[in-house]
Amino acid sequence: MSTSNKITIAIDGYSSCGKSTMAKALAKKMGYVFIDSGAMYRGVTLYCMRHKLFDQEENPLIAEIIAALPEIAIDFKFNVETGTSDLHLNGENVEQAIRMPDVAARVSAVASIKEVRSKLVEEQRKMGLSGGIVMDGRDIGSVVFPHAELKLFVTAKPEIRAERRLKELELKGVDTNFDEVLKNLQERDYLDSTRSESPLIKTSDAIEIDTSDLTPVSQLALAYELAQKCLKC
Ligand code: C5P
Repeated sequence: MSTSNKITIAIDGYSSCGKSTMAKALAKKMGYVFIDSGAMYRGVTLYCMRHKLFDQEENPLIAEIIAALPEIAIDFKFNVETGTSDLHLNGENVEQAIRMPDVAARVSAVASIKEVRSKLVEEQRKMGLSGGIVMDGRDIGSVVFPHAELKLFVTAKPEIRAERRLKELELKGVDTNFDEVLKNLQERDYLDSTRSESPLIKTSDAIEIDTSDLTPVSQLALAYELAQKCLKC
């Protein structure tokens, strides 16, 4: 819960439905801190890849990953050039590397490990202690901040999400295609919604926003209006 007049805003939803773009813009407009919790799971996954903590079928080596957790330090640092916060893994800026398809292909399996979640949820709660935070992810309204004053659940049609994600990856020069991107999104949606540890759910107090036909500008306007209403409550 917030200890100031600033509120806590939890934004959850499926992969690539515009959550982070909306959350980042909303935080900027409100003068709040923005935390992309997915980046933290991606950072742990990148560590596991670099330390070969997967078996030959690319399943995570759970016991080894749990044993390695004390060695993994995840932080956000402000990048003056881009004006956004970049993810740092053990002091190294890995913002580019964590967005690559090889990380996307493995992250949901790593994120389903209970001990990985406990570590990151604890860090996320510390970041939100004084309120004034917009955090996006899969379990923010259900587990990380169950008392958040505003909870948004963002959806969009899978094909539209894949199209948007493909454009982002193409801009970064990543060699991929629509079918591959769509397959990855659907696999992650499935794993994220069916895992036993804090699965992606829409809580009963969350407001659903379907971004399929909304521009980023209208998504922001809608989220900002909801936040203003919430501040007056
Ligand atoms: O948000 P993003 O797509 O970058 O998240 C990457 C993955 O991290 C998700 O597919 C999900 O498996 C995991 N995640 C999670 N809980 C969160 C945020 C992300 O399990 N709060």
